[in-house]
Amino acid sequence: MNPPPIVSLEPPEFRTGVGYDAHRLATGRKLVIGGIEIAADKGLVGHSDADILLHAITDAMLGAAAQGDIGELFPNSDPQWQGADSSIFARQAAEILESYGWRIVNVDAVVVIERPKLLPYREVIRENIASILKIRTSAVGLKAKTGEGVGPVGTEQMAEAHAVVLIARSGQPKLM
Ligand SMILES: [Zn+2]
Repeated sequence: MNPPPIVSLEPPEFRTGVGYDAHRLATGRKLVIGGIEIAADKGLVGHSDADILLHAITDAMLGAAAQGDIGELFPNSDPQWQGADSSIFARQAAEILESYGWRIVNVDAVVVIERPKLLPYREVIRENIASILKIRTSAVGLKAKTGEGVGPVGTEQMAEAHAVVLIARSGQPKLM
């Protein structure tokens, strides 16, 4: 005879979130990706530092916890975010997750930019994102793609980033 099933254990609770961002490229702007300044002819244009990667990751985190999006939390009409370091947004989103009882399991992201090559910066970007989110570097995946010379990305008019985040219940939420 089989033992009775255990019914009191809650299954682990997971959520995923997806994020996307794009900004125009222009001369005379810094190129900041994942909080790291990258040597380039063109930089991303935006109200803040226009860090596509941190913006996509921030939206993925907020989406996983169904807590709105980056534009609601940090409106680009607000002068306090003029030229802002986007690690502030990512850090705040991570704190929101924590306050709702979630922890980040992993982040994976793709940056789509024609130039320059991001590979030399990949490890430092991964480490920086891990330190902003207070997770291990091994939990941060990062790939770079080009636009293959066509379209707005391929002709260096813009760059894009996509991100997914997995979160898990860490315990009792401080907020409901
Ligand atoms: Zn953005």
